[in-house]
Amino acid sequence: MPMVAYTRGGAEYVPEFLTNIDPEKCIGCGRCYKVCGRDVMTLHGLTEDGEMVRPGTDEYDDVEDEIIKSVMSMIHPENCIGCGACARVCPSDCQTHAAVD
Ligand code: SF4
Ligand code: SF4
Repeated sequence: MPMVAYTRGGAEYVPEFLTNIDPEKCIGCGRCYKVCGRDVMTLHGLTEDGEMVRPGTDEYDDVEDEIIKSVMSMIHPENCIGCGACARVCPSDCQTHAAVD
């Protein structure tokens, strides 16, 4: 049985939690970040080697010259409430959501 949640009116629904963001497809537009109120994700730099580094860190400063683009990445997946808002605003179809058993 999947995990369920309830609306204010008591109706049951199945949350679809964010499980992955494809860095190949993501264009770093930030739309998902703007609609999410749960601090689930933030923009990262993607290096030529496929490494994801967070701005403001020493790691980022070390590889700054190798960054090819900005992509969204999850930092607190455990905060997701499965509302699906991020998927509705994504123009690149790069997110995966799933129910949890
Ligand atoms: S499903 Fe909702 S809570 Fe989860 S990351 Fe997307 S917008 Fe945030
Ligand atoms: S909305 Fe989609 S393309 Fe834009 S930053 Fe989020 S995951 Fe990437």
